[in-house]
Amino acid sequence: MLRIAIQSKGRLNEESTAMLRELGIEIDDSKRKYLSNAKNFPVEMLYLRDDDIPGVVASGSASLGIVGLNEVEEKGYPVEVVEKLGFGGCRISLAIPKADVYEGPQYFEGKVIATSYPKILKKFLDENGVNARIEVITGSVEVTPAAGIADAIFDIVSSGSTLVANNLKEVEKVFFSEAVLISNGNLSDEEKEILAEIQFRLESARNSRDKKYILMNLPEASLDEAIRILPAMKSPTVLPLAEKGWCSLHSVVNTGDLWDKVRALKAIGAEGILVLDVNKIIL
Ligand code: ATP
Ligand code: MG
Repeated sequence: MLRIAIQSKGRLNEESTAMLRELGIEIDDSKRKYLSNAKNFPVEMLYLRDDDIPGVVASGSASLGIVGLNEVEEKGYPVEVVEKLGFGGCRISLAIPKADVYEGPQYFEGKVIATSYPKILKKFLDENGVNARIEVITGSVEVTPAAGIADAIFDIVSSGSTLVANNLKEVEKVFFSEAVLISNGNLSDEEKEILAEIQFRLESARNSRDKKYILMNLPEASLDEAIRILPAMKSPTVLPLAEKGWCSLHSVVNTGDLWDKVRALKAIGAEGILVLDVNKIIL
């Protein structure tokens, strides 16, 4: 049994549980219990505020955690990032009143900056030789300049619409984050095995994400040409059709190449082309 800490509610909760489900780990978070067992996999879920996840993993109260890299960096606990998970993408940026002229980090000299990420901000200011006062605010950081609490903010940005709504502009993108899987690096052999299985399933899901399964009917005379267009993982599958002179060709293509391949295949006589999503690729 291995315990995984995830956010109980908030931006990462849904995608964390969706990711575990995609890996075939059935968790029931409908009752919003603090702790709950997965139905078909030896893991136990611990639901927490995201701020508490790095500490709980570092102390060993949970063996793994799913949390934003921003929280990991800010908290500074000795945890290991085992996987980047590709969701919850955002950045932490410095933003100033829209009307101000910005010529570089020296703008912040002597200013007051409101943030929930004082450590990451301090590092940036030190690296740039800037002295500024950091005002730690845990929520609604974006309203502090208008409220006269701060001159500027250092806050999470994803689309930038919150900044625009508060008459601010982003001037330095300091830290890039996404959800990550963390571990305390001190797992038992049994826990290591469970983590290895999770990583194996993550990899299979990741491999399939930008792939499509394509199948079509093809005149046998065009087969060599079609195989040149469609190099598959090994080689395409070719099945005979009841109609003489025709075959069915199956392969996997990169999503980005799909329409070019479809056009080329149609040009050599492919018909009845089906394109399907791929759920997992196990190499
Ligand atoms: P909690 O109650 O668990 O402490 P919270 O209010 O601190 O929640 P959320 O707003 O739910 O946190 O954000 C969780 C994480 O989602 C952030 O730490 C960050 O990694 C990520 N994230 C992605 N996009 C955004 C965004 N636009 N705003 C805030 N966080 C974002
Ligand atoms: Mg939080």
